[in-house]
Amino acid sequence: MTAPRPPIRVAVLGATGAVGQTFVRLLQGHPWFEIAEVAASERSAGKRYDQVTRWIEGDLPPAVAGLTVKPCDPAAVESPIVFSALDSNVAGEVEAAFAAAGRLVLSNAKNYRMEPDVPLVIPEVNADHLGLLDAQRARRGWSGGIVTNANCASTMAAVALAPLHAAFGARRVFVATMQAVSGAGYPGVPSLDILGNVIPYIGDEEPKIEREMQKMLGVLAGGAVQGAPFVVSAHANRVAVENGHTVCLSVEFERAPSLDDAARVLRAWTGASVVRGLPSAPESPLHLFDQDDRPQPRRDAMRGGGMTVSVGRLRADPLFHLKFVAMGHNTIRGAAGGSILNAELLVKTGRVGAA
Ligand code: NAP
Repeated sequence: MTAPRPPIRVAVLGATGAVGQTFVRLLQGHPWFEIAEVAASERSAGKRYDQVTRWIEGDLPPAVAGLTVKPCDPAAVESPIVFSALDSNVAGEVEAAFAAAGRLVLSNAKNYRMEPDVPLVIPEVNADHLGLLDAQRARRGWSGGIVTNANCASTMAAVALAPLHAAFGARRVFVATMQAVSGAGYPGVPSLDILGNVIPYIGDEEPKIEREMQKMLGVLAGGAVQGAPFVVSAHANRVAVENGHTVCLSVEFERAPSLDDAARVLRAWTGASVVRGLPSAPESPLHLFDQDDRPQPRRDAMRGGGMTVSVGRLRADPLFHLKFVAMGHNTIRGAAGGSILNAELLVKTGRVGAA
């Protein structure tokens, strides 16, 4: 499709944090969207963005540096598309207020992900779930809406599992994660807690992984998502990696696939065709490695601009049927990049401006 002209004005809520900064970086030079507004807590509001932001990676884009940070209030923020990188303590109320005020909110927070009328979307996996927006508006009386993306570890696992589930029907899924420190935001985990260490607990992470994948791989019918009928057991670990969540999966299927069939299915998968050609869509949403020692976060997290999920170590599992490793960039594919792709899909499917 041709680029919207002029570009659509967008706001980033929680713009000062780790995910907020990733939004600001990824939206520089975006062909459809222009950052018009940044917003954060009362601590930051009223001050210049570059004065209140401890910028983490590369150079702070000059076009955003001088913006005055606004409060997270729809009376102060005008943009029709609102990317939310808010802490979950505040995301619930704030995102609802924006949706009620007619804005489309692309949320990274956990608050609305499992609400039955809220799409939880990875465009290549379940683009059609955006259809829930109609039910959401009718039920809540909102003229805008909320679209969420998943927990960052669930995203990597769901992309790797989606083609296999479609072909062979997942029944039981065992997941163990090794999650990067950037997943804890900024300043996040104290260095003396994580350097040379593994922390076998991430607050509320395992329950999120154990429920979100079924919704994403579920089927939309009659205005509701019927969750996929598999069970997930998750272990979540924080490791001393900067970016890139690694997820080890063992999966039992309804129809046991051979290794060759599983590899063929993974290699052939390109995701929903509606996503192809969107500005943030990677050439391949999933890359399957043959090498025994890949994927690795340092080498592979930025594959496809951080939007490709890398899969490897596909082998037979003596307990279940298959085991493999999935890895992807947590603040890009698992957060800001995923949200931007969701917004591009909303534009392409005519849902922006249709509120
Ligand atoms: P973070 O670095 O701690 O940033 C939190 C942001 O929320 C900051 O901009 C902060 O603004 C703002 N904020 C805090 N309290 C506020 C309030 N009362 N009112 C308005 N704004 C407030 O966290 P993060 O890692 O970027 O995560 C942001 C969200 O994305 C979370 O919900 C997280 O669970 C989710 N997420 C994160 C990742 C990841 O890999 N990091 C992946 C997927 C999803 P101030 O600077 O003004 O305090």
